[in-house]
Amino acid sequence: MIKGTFRDSLIGGLFLVLAILVVAVLGFGFSEKDEMAVEAMPVPLVSTLDSLPAMEQVDTVAPAKSETLHIIGVGDMMLGTNYPSKNYLPANGGKDLLADVEPILKGADLTFGNLEGTILDKGGTVKRCNNPDLCYAFRSPESYVKHFTNAGFDVVSLANNHSGDFGPSGRKRTKEVLDQEGIYYAGLAGSDESVVFEKDGVTYGFCAFAPNRGTVDIRNISRAKQIVSQLAQKADIVIVSFHGGAEGAKNQHVPRRTEKYYGENRGDVYKFSHAVIDAGADIVFGHGPHVTRAAELYKDRFIIYSLGNFCTYGRFNLRGAAGIAPIIDLEVDKDGTFVGGKVISIYQQKTHGPKVDGSKRALKKLIDLTKQDFPETELLISSDGSLSKK
Ligand SMILES: [Zn+2]
Repeated sequence: MIKGTFRDSLIGGLFLVLAILVVAVLGFGFSEKDEMAVEAMPVPLVSTLDSLPAMEQVDTVAPAKSETLHIIGVGDMMLGTNYPSKNYLPANGGKDLLADVEPILKGADLTFGNLEGTILDKGGTVKRCNNPDLCYAFRSPESYVKHFTNAGFDVVSLANNHSGDFGPSGRKRTKEVLDQEGIYYAGLAGSDESVVFEKDGVTYGFCAFAPNRGTVDIRNISRAKQIVSQLAQKADIVIVSFHGGAEGAKNQHVPRRTEKYYGENRGDVYKFSHAVIDAGADIVFGHGPHVTRAAELYKDRFIIYSLGNFCTYGRFNLRGAAGIAPIIDLEVDKDGTFVGGKVISIYQQKTHGPKVDGSKRALKKLIDLTKQDFPETELLISSDGSLSKK
């Protein structure tokens, strides 16, 4: 009651002020300045009422907000190798490599990356290489798997040209170590082609493809469609990873045909991506070229053709386009339909892992490439990094 009385007198007082003003304006004639003054008057009145205790507030039922999921995808990850020498391992047991991006990665409902190597302390059968100049074998210490868990990774791809670097025993140990940490994986032909798992009440289906021996073949599109359509029956969200396409700064465009690199058929990533979405995939995370490639929407599903080098310590070329990469933070409906998202640019240097890039080079590259390669796409990538539908 006391408050009511106070408010009443306040309104009364302000009304009086208004009345005086109106009289003054009528008396002395209108000017633009006066008009503004009169219009400005109700503002303090409203804000005074608003600042009073919530006596007059009516409870309104907020419109049901559709629940969405945030899914993050990053490219190639190899946190250091103890082969051929421990000199290729980072300082401090690799603990600092992902520190800068950890808060970003952890913020998602689900975080994916491509595990470009093996995880085992010693042993394994190192691969034979025809061309020693192009031959790298990656074996990360088992303690490093914690860095992935600590950074929030839920699922990784093993379909790439390095998961077989240390033969069957290398693959076996890598899987054991990932199992121990509760990180899901897929991409190995015959044994681990796909995986279905649940997190926070959402069922995810994941599968991964590459042109490399022992992995699920990106070039066998009818088989890929089969795997994806089976996943789509079981899962709310189906994520497809591929490691394909030619490599390097000269191969940043998506050519919409089969690509060859050093005589190897690296698949038709455009045809593949559209085919898996036709079969029920919701998100396609591409990587393999070691540089950024364009993104697009197809049937309201998101495709990025290369996520580039995300955290590749020691033996990787990080010059120019290979040293920058996007983190894709996607927002999707619970059925996988694209809603929006954002792009965070990172850069790497030989001495450190991914750091957030204030000059947003990867974002600029992604915008450029997408405009050139997919002018027809409904995907809008804004200069502030936001993703939306045109
Ligand atoms: Zn690779």
